[in-house]
Amino acid sequence: MKLIIHGGFFSESSTSAETKLAKQDALRHIAAKAYDYLKTHSALETVVYAVELLEDDALFNAGIGSQIQSDGVIRMSASIMDGRTLKFSGVINIENVKNPVRVAERLLAVDDRVLGGEGATRFARQQGFAEFSTEIPQRRREYEAKLAATGTGTVGCVALDAQGHIAAATSTGGKGFEIPGRISDSATTAGNYANAHCGVSCTGVGEDIVSAAVATKIVTRVTDGQPIAEAFRRSFDELKPFDGFAGAIAIDKHGNVYHQDSHPSMVFASFDGVAFEVFN
Ligand code: ASP
Repeated sequence: MKLIIHGGFFSESSTSAETKLAKQDALRHIAAKAYDYLKTHSALETVVYAVELLEDDALFNAGIGSQIQSDGVIRMSASIMDGRTLKFSGVINIENVKNPVRVAERLLAVDDRVLGGEGATRFARQQGFAEFSTEIPQRRREYEAKLAATGTGTVGCVALDAQGHIAAATSTGGKGFEIPGRISDSATTAGNYANAHCGVSCTGVGEDIVSAAVATKIVTRVTDGQPIAEAFRRSFDELKPFDGFAGAIAIDKHGNVYHQDSHPSMVFASFDGVAFEVFN
């Protein structure tokens, strides 16, 4: 069993030493909790659980604490990929729900598995997800000071369970200050992808992640036999021509846990039941 989570990149507005430590602590705590959960649950159930914990922590830009878009509204995106069934589900630009990843989870069971905008929000209400504002005062201050455009801090989790199944989940409040209608990578296969060989969750500038199809390419390369480190190296090299800004976490079917970022510093934590690795 293996598990890795990420808390996105540090935003300019939150790079104080104190915030950095608080994020590292939170990641360590959530990785341990999620690993414990993995002992009795599948990879799929665990990635949803871990991302829900991250969404609930206002330190991260997903769920509570999400960035505000240019029109003053928060729209969030989240997705799940089950490496066992190869089903991908997601919500794009959903509003006023506490845990977008839980709505994405609900969509795994229906035919139309990716919903956007009002349709996603309406589906959530029909499914009993209560109206919930994920805005926190700090984001409103950043929005008002027009600082939010510099912030990234999506969350994600990849897990390999005791049965050898892999799953990935990613959730985001977006880049901040987007044009309403902009689509993040987080609920696309460029930002979140898994199969029987590998699972990947990304953070960074969505447009760059989509341009380089980061998660899809890493998983495909590993599937075709490349070692995970090589698959990362090649995929991150392909961000270089346009100075793409991305970070990714991954686990392959052999239990190799990997991460890389194109620019410092993605925050992440991995846990295998014995040792933590926490970096920023
Ligand atoms: N990838 C997200 C987006 O572009 C932002 C992030 O990772 O923080 O919406």
